[in-house]
Amino acid sequence: MTRMLGRRWGAETLPAPFHDPYGFKAGKITSGKRTAEGNARVGGAKGSYHLHGDAADFVTAEGQTMAQLYAQARRYFPGATEILNEGDHVHVAQRGYGRMPYFGKQGGR
Ligand SMILES: [Zn+2]
Repeated sequence: MTRMLGRRWGAETLPAPFHDPYGFKAGKITSGKRTAEGNARVGGAKGSYHLHGDAADFVTAEGQTMAQLYAQARRYFPGATEILNEGDHVHVAQRGYGRMPYFGKQGGR
């Protein structure tokens, strides 16, 4: 996921829907890096990549289905460690990325 968040998607863009110039389209990121407390509150996995700033959760853009968002993420992040369709969001993680900022009311500080 060298294409992941830092290089093309600065932290300042996180609250806005995405339309990456290279073609990745999604709604908002709803969760980025999490504190241990925030992760526990949202029922995150122990050792979640969110704890290390390695993961982001995306919701769909307007007119986009979960299946479309998931399929697109699979194409766009071929090197991702995890791409999970969680039902109401798609989770994308890259081990060692580490640059995803604290983000999201449920996962943030
Ligand atoms: Zn996630």
